[in-house]
Amino acid sequence: MRRTLIAGNWKMNGNLAANSSLLSELLAAPIDSENEVLVCVPSLYISQCASVLAKTSIGYGAQDVSAHQSGAYTGEVSSAMLADFSCQYVIVGHSERRAYHHESNDLVAQKALQALRSNICPIVCVGETLEQREAGKTNEVVITQLRAVMDVLDDGALARIVVAYEPVWAIGTGKTATPAMAQEVHAVLRLTLAERSVFASDKVRILYGGSMKPDNAKELLAMPDIDGGLIGGASLKSGDFLAIINAA
Ligand code: PGA
Repeated sequence: MRRTLIAGNWKMNGNLAANSSLLSELLAAPIDSENEVLVCVPSLYISQCASVLAKTSIGYGAQDVSAHQSGAYTGEVSSAMLADFSCQYVIVGHSERRAYHHESNDLVAQKALQALRSNICPIVCVGETLEQREAGKTNEVVITQLRAVMDVLDDGALARIVVAYEPVWAIGTGKTATPAMAQEVHAVLRLTLAERSVFASDKVRILYGGSMKPDNAKELLAMPDIDGGLIGGASLKSGDFLAIINAA
C-alpha cells in the first residue's frame, strides 16, 4: 500500500545542458506509474525542473532548505521559495550536510518542520558511521536522529514525511548494506514511528540509500520495510537510474 519512491540525489553535479539531456532521456523511457520517481537537484536548477518536468510523471525536489521562514539568512533558500517553484520534496539531514555543515538533529528537525509548513515533503536522512556500526550503536544513532524530527511534528505531519536510511559508510563507496542488514534497520525505524503513531508507521515510506545500483536494487527493494531508494551516483546516468526504477 506504500507507493515505491525512487529518488535521485544529484548532489552538486550537473549544468543546464547536462540536466536537459538527462531529463529528456528519463522522460523518453517508459516508467511504471505504480512507482513514484523524482530527482533532487541543486536549488539553482529547480526552475529548470519546474519547466521541463511540469505535467510529467517525474517529480523534483531540493537537497536542502533553510530552517527559517524568511529574513536575514544570507545564502539560504526558504521552503516558501521552493514551493514557489512547485517543488514537492526536499532532502533534509543528508549525512554530507550533517558532516560538512555541522547540522545537528535539532536543526534537521526544524528544516523538516519548515518544509511541511510549505506543504513540501521532507526526506529525512538518518544513518550511522562505520565507527558507530562497529561499536554496536547503529540503532541508537538512527533512533535518536529520527526521534528529533518526530518530537517537533504532530501525528498528522509525521505521517507525511519520508525517511531515508543511509549508512554513511555505504554512501558513494560502492559498499552496500546487505538487504538483511538494511531491512533490520528499516524495521527498527518503523517500530520507532509506530511507538508514536501506527497510522504514521504504516504510511511513511522508508527509503534505502548508499550505493544502490542496478545490480543490487531488486534485492534491496524486495525487503518488506524498504519502500524505495535514494540514489546518488547511479542517478546521474539515465541507464542506471532507469534500471533501478524498473527493478522496483
Ligand atoms: P550513493 O549516494 O548512491 O552515491 O551512495 C546516496 C546518497 O548520498 O544519497
